[in-house]
Order: sequence, then structure tokens, then C-alpha cells
Amino acid sequence: MPSAELLKEAGRQMTICNACRYCEGYCAVFPAMERRRIFTKADLVYLANLCFDCRDCYYACQYAPPHEFGVNVPKIFAEVRADTYQEYGWPAILSRLFKRNGRAVSLVTGAVVAIILLFVLALQGPAVLFGAHVGEGSFYRVVPYLAMTVPFLIFALYGLAALLFGACRFWRDTRGSLADVVDFGALWRATQEAFGLTYLKGGGAGCNYPDSAFSHGRRRLHHLVFYGFLLDFAATTIAAFYDHFLGWVAPYPLLSWPVALGTLGGIGLLIGTGGLLYLKWRSDREPAEGRMVSMDVAFLMLLFLTSATGMLLLALRESPAMGTLLVVHLGFVAGLFLTAPYGKFAHVVYRYAALVQNSIEQART
Ligand code: SF4
Ligand code: SF4
Repeated sequence: MPSAELLKEAGRQMTICNACRYCEGYCAVFPAMERRRIFTKADLVYLANLCFDCRDCYYACQYAPPHEFGVNVPKIFAEVRADTYQEYGWPAILSRLFKRNGRAVSLVTGAVVAIILLFVLALQGPAVLFGAHVGEGSFYRVVPYLAMTVPFLIFALYGLAALLFGACRFWRDTRGSLADVVDFGALWRATQEAFGLTYLKGGGAGCNYPDSAFSHGRRRLHHLVFYGFLLDFAATTIAAFYDHFLGWVAPYPLLSWPVALGTLGGIGLLIGTGGLLYLKWRSDREPAEGRMVSMDVAFLMLLFLTSATGMLLLALRESPAMGTLLVVHLGFVAGLFLTAPYGKFAHVVYRYAALVQNSIEQART
């Protein structure tokens, strides 16, 4: 949970901003701030999760460091977000993974890859792992059908449940009512803002990211990651439908929906995550927060490696490298599912919940 000192400092900065109001055209945070006179923990958690870290307010601010007021809204909100992700993470014992997130994600993913590798070696033997397999069902000759489907279904349901549980706690603590959950108008407006990444446009000229120059680069790369992820999800869903309901077993031809969508999504993810990592490397650290940077890098690296191994698997699926690539790719996918509720992916649910609340507030004022 954010410490009393952190909340006090965030409240102090918001009080200065509320008197100044210079940045009210940049994002949803400042209009939402102006609807408040005092800033409780619920208000600050809500405002922090409404912030898209575009940094426009930091570079525009006449009170930013070295001014004695020391206003640095993106940084203080990143600290509040990092603490609230940990507070709402479920179960509490695993929410410690938010601390030193880069190390935690690497260890979990490395362990899963090793477990799958040992399982395949013990069950199938090295000849199967390193041999070439072609034709229908070739993936299942390396990792049997049940071993590939059941654990991944459990991991996905677990990740979804943990994220939903966190979102419910966030909603309750930021004063969302149960009735508001079915405010379809607010849900629709928030969905449009989330899919359009509206607030990464800043005041229209883009983010001040990675430095003080305005740029739409971060929004475009974020779009590639977001839609690349959705395309890969669609490809996996169609493949599962083919396999379980139509009896068409993978691997599928290059000109099939699962391969076409998966390839497009994979390319989007590779360019998007690679570009965002480059921007992160170049970005100004002054408005950044260490734990959030660690979470960003760990999540982007894992997505990049998952896409890269997926694309390599597609390219080399008829070669003797297929078995090893399949094991490594499955390990990365499992690592992604298992760590999603305890890393940067969590921002998807909290930011969306904050956007819904903001939409409800806007409609009521
Ligand atoms: S960030 Fe600075 S310029 Fe912007 S509203 Fe706050 S005090 Fe004013
Ligand atoms: S960093 Fe961007 S999104 Fe966050 S409060 Fe400042 S202007 Fe708004």
C-alpha cells in the first residue's frame, strides 16, 4: 500500500496543480483533479491510474525540479501505481513479485522453460526432441496434447482470476459502486479511449517521450503491441476452435487464419516491443520511477521473446530445431500467463477501471 508519506507528497503536488491548472488540456487527470478539493488515498490511487505517463505536464511545468516546489506528477503517480499494483495483487504473498520485477519474471520464466524441457526429455526422450517432425500433429509428437492444453488453460484461468480479483479491490477502494459496473455508456466510452490510446496524444501533439520533444512514436508503438497481442490472441482462439471442434490439427498452412493472424500479430509485437524498449532505453529518468522501469522492461522483453520464438517456430517448424523452439516458446507463453498479474500487464485492468470511473464522473458533472 502507498505509504502515508507518499500519499502526503502526491496530495501536496495535486494541491499545487489544482491552484495552477496550466495542464488541464493534456489528459484526463487534470479535469478529474479539478473536480476535487481534497485528495484522499482513494482519489490519489484513482488519479495515478488515470495517468498515461505521457510526461507533457512534467516538461511544461514551471514548478518542476529544480524549483523548490518540486512538482513531478509522472514520477509521483508512477510510485503510487507501483504501490497499488502490489496492494491489489492477489494472492498477497505473490504480489511481492512486483518488487524486483525483472528478476522475478526472469526466474519464473526460466524455471518454466526448464521444467517443460525436463518433462519432454524424460517423457519423450532426446531423439523426439531433436528429431524433425512434419505433417499433422507434429507439435503433439514433441509435447503431448494433454500436456500442452490442460496446464495452459489452468495458467490462463488463474491469471484472469487474479487480475479480476485485483480489479474488484481497486474498484471498491476507489469508491466505484456495484451499479456502475453495468453502466454500459461509461464502459463504451472507456473502451473507445483505451483502444484509441486517447491520452497518449497528450494535448494533441503527442507525448514528451523519450525526451522533451513532442512525439506520436510511443502511441504508435503501443498500438502495435496492443493490436499485435489481440491478433495473436485471435489466432490462438481460432486454432483452438479448429483443433477441438473441427478436428483440424496443427500445424496449419501458411495461408490459413491462425498462421496469417499470428504472423501479423507477431510482426506487430516484435516491432512494437522492440521500439518501446529502445524508447525506454533513451528516455529521461527524471520523471521515471525505478520499479516501474523494471516492470516495463521485464514485460516488454518477455513479449518480445515470446513473439520472436513464435516466429522462429513458424519459420523452422519442419526442421530438427522445431522441438527445442516449441519447448522454449511454450515456456515463454507460460511465463507470460503466470507473471501477468504481477507485472506491467496489470496496468491494463487498473487503467481501464480508472477510465470507466472517469467516464462516469464526466457524465455526472
Ligand atoms: S504540473 Fe505544473 S504546470 Fe502543470 S498544473 Fe501542475 S503545477 Fe501547473
Ligand atoms: S504525465 Fe501525462 S497523463 Fe500523466 S498527469 Fe501528466 S499530462 Fe497527464
